[in-house]
Amino acid sequence: MSDNTKYIFFTGGVISGLGKGIAAASVGALLKARGLSVTIQKFDPYINIDPGTMSPFQHGEVYVTEDGSETDLDLGHYERFINTEMTKRNNLTTGQVYYSVITKERNGDYLGATVQVIPHITNEIKEAIKDVSANSEKFDVVITEVGGTVGDIESQPFLEAIRQFCLEQPKENTLIIHLTLVPYIESSGEAKTKPTQHSVMRMREIGLQPDMLLCRTSKRLEKETIDKLSLFCNVTPESVIEGRDVKSIYEVPLMFHKSGVGELIRNKLDLPESSENFSDWKEYVRKIKHPEGKITIAMCGKYNKLVDSYKSILEAFVHAGVDNSVKVDVKWVNTEELAGNQKEMLGNVDGILIPPGFGKRGVEGKILAAKYARIKKIPFLGICLGMQCSVIEFSRNVCGIKNANSSEFDPDTKAPIIDFMESQRKIKKKGGTMRLGAYPCTLKSGTLAAKAYGKTDISERHRHRYEFNNKYKSKLQKRGMIFSGINERDDLTEIIELKNHPWFVGTQFHPELKSRVFSTHPLFKDFINASKKYQERKRNKKSKKSK
Ligand code: GLN
Repeated sequence: MSDNTKYIFFTGGVISGLGKGIAAASVGALLKARGLSVTIQKFDPYINIDPGTMSPFQHGEVYVTEDGSETDLDLGHYERFINTEMTKRNNLTTGQVYYSVITKERNGDYLGATVQVIPHITNEIKEAIKDVSANSEKFDVVITEVGGTVGDIESQPFLEAIRQFCLEQPKENTLIIHLTLVPYIESSGEAKTKPTQHSVMRMREIGLQPDMLLCRTSKRLEKETIDKLSLFCNVTPESVIEGRDVKSIYEVPLMFHKSGVGELIRNKLDLPESSENFSDWKEYVRKIKHPEGKITIAMCGKYNKLVDSYKSILEAFVHAGVDNSVKVDVKWVNTEELAGNQKEMLGNVDGILIPPGFGKRGVEGKILAAKYARIKKIPFLGICLGMQCSVIEFSRNVCGIKNANSSEFDPDTKAPIIDFMESQRKIKKKGGTMRLGAYPCTLKSGTLAAKAYGKTDISERHRHRYEFNNKYKSKLQKRGMIFSGINERDDLTEIIELKNHPWFVGTQFHPELKSRVFSTHPLFKDFINASKKYQERKRNKKSKKSK
């Protein structure tokens, strides 16, 4: 706890997609390793209130926090790296800022004033920076990442607010880190500093002087390059940090640790002296880089290979891989192409995962994938829509309810196995109206779920409108479906399993959102473990045959 919160701002230059979120999360991890309490906030310059209504093609995964906010996927990285829960306050969009200012104007809060970008919009942004550390918890360090790149029209008010904020704080309380690209030109054998010079020039035009440059580069930065960046960008040579491309994002904190970023920040922000304990990270990264085996999981979705759409699931695979000493390879299976090709597309995998999703496209293929996993006894994890598909499949093919469906895909279905939640029926507006955030769930003892968690009372995060229809429960139960997780207050099915199958689990919630470095989500850990065992069984069978 500290009265004197320090603020670090991350801006980006040259191009987007340089890994600003990972860099901010990594700096957070460095400071946490020094015993400081840290939180990270993301500013998104778009006009949407949140990314909840955007397509995953546009925006990637929508990350849901405990308090039910739909946020940018970078918040997932923050939680995973610094093991701290994010809230609504950790993600601010232009839409939210304007919404709040306009609401205040209509309420008469600014009576007499002309409402303007400066000071009304910028004041709102400055308050949000302070707010993130002002409520239940006070943090030693607040890191704020500004989305987009310097020079974008949309990010101007955020950068202006940061300029004012820094001016109002004592010098040693704020720090600006600019993430930039230093491209290497093969033909001339040179690293080019001009793009960085230009983006720092843009920053200085608006009154922001970076204190540190984080330079993404594919090659080692020569001393000459560092000196040139230092001279033209007005930062000391020690503050020019090389950010080499690495294989795993979990190497980034380690790389920063080795190059003394933590100590540099400590000095600049006048933080108490402390050492950075990084031995656990080192061991973690070693395990990622040196797995003892490899397993393949089929990801059966419609956003084929769009890694950003399934970010948290892919990271949970990395975590579960560390626990099980394997590398988890993903085989992307486009479910629109699955019919008739099940054996070819799923025959060699060690586990099948059906991820969350919305809309009808690709759903029949997902149902086929669930059937294949059930019949071939391949470990299966169905998440949200994935769970719903597995229940539809079971109803159709085991319970003989031929036209079983979800009313999401067929609003007139005679057998709505998956149906609108009662609370959703009257809702017409789309933004932020799903069942969102953390809800409690009680597990049935002796089930795969109870074994995985090692307890019976859990809480998990949700993002959906439809649910399992309890009218069909006893029918499905009789044929071997186990309802292993229930929200008792509202009598909602949260987890299903199958009898006579080594590992078949469907969850209405999103376990991937709570998997972190050093604490893998238990269902992912057990799913990967079951897949590893399945692979071993396959191997043993093969070697017996060949004898
Ligand atoms: N479309 C489904 C629903 O709204 C599943 C949502 C999801 O997978 N997140 O219930």
